[in-house]
Amino acid sequence: VIRFAGVTKRFGPLTVLDDFDFAVAPGEKVTLIGPSGSGKSTVLRILMTLEPFQEGTLELAGIAYHQPKGRGAFRASEQHLRQIRTHVGMVFQSFNLFPHMSVLRNVVEAPMVVLGLARVEAECRAVDLLRMVGLSDKKDHYPSQLSGGQQQRVAIARALAMRPRVLLFDEPTSALDPQLVGEVLGVIRSLAHEHDLTMLLVTHEMRFAREVSDRVCFFDKGRIAEQGEPERIFTNPEHPRTREFLQSVL
Ligand code: ATP
Ligand code: MG
Repeated sequence: VIRFAGVTKRFGPLTVLDDFDFAVAPGEKVTLIGPSGSGKSTVLRILMTLEPFQEGTLELAGIAYHQPKGRGAFRASEQHLRQIRTHVGMVFQSFNLFPHMSVLRNVVEAPMVVLGLARVEAECRAVDLLRMVGLSDKKDHYPSQLSGGQQQRVAIARALAMRPRVLLFDEPTSALDPQLVGEVLGVIRSLAHEHDLTMLLVTHEMRFAREVSDRVCFFDKGRIAEQGEPERIFTNPEHPRTREFLQSVL
């Protein structure tokens, strides 16, 4: 459902991804780990078309985007953006809720605007999702009235409201106070049991990565240095860079 083939991404003189190949199967839960600056967020941002790329092919939810070499950068058209917003949800480190909208409005906005859902239908779905993330009683609050963990759970409900096939998480707990991390991981853990949902997650929570992932990819300098089942990667890493990284974080 996700495929990068020969993707190259540069920021000016800096090549962040060089001829990058990576694929995620439908329903698979994959975690990216790796040092700061290795390109993990860039992978997610390219998928969300928040970043243009210079070369290669990107396939997402059945749609392929190709950028031939030497023709500048791929930028998504309005049509691409619509398709991606319909199929892919993303949860950021910094919540990114709409501050001027109530919790309920945050969750119903995209389904109404992008999918054209009627308000009653969108609200009905939103109420279910807010119950699922344990926030039924907060639907009329504004983001500033919520804790970080609650805001992040709203952000997850908002992403799910679009019924995405693919859900991307970029360090969803790293901006949270330690005592709030557990409630957010709990919600993501329950999503990991959803058979049809494809999840691509960047996290520094190694124990969590081990629990929820089908596959862990160690990212180093814009490429996957090593990947495999979490058990093996965490107990018996083969690549020296993986070993070094795990020793520094575990
Ligand atoms: P972290 O674990 O710190 O979040 P990361 O693996 O997510 O790191 P990226 O954010 O993907 O890393 O960044 C990869 C490289 O691209 C870094 O060297 C970063 O400085 C560079 N980079 C990212 N965004 C930009 C930008 N908008 N302009 C220029 N360079 C950028
Ligand atoms: Mg990052």
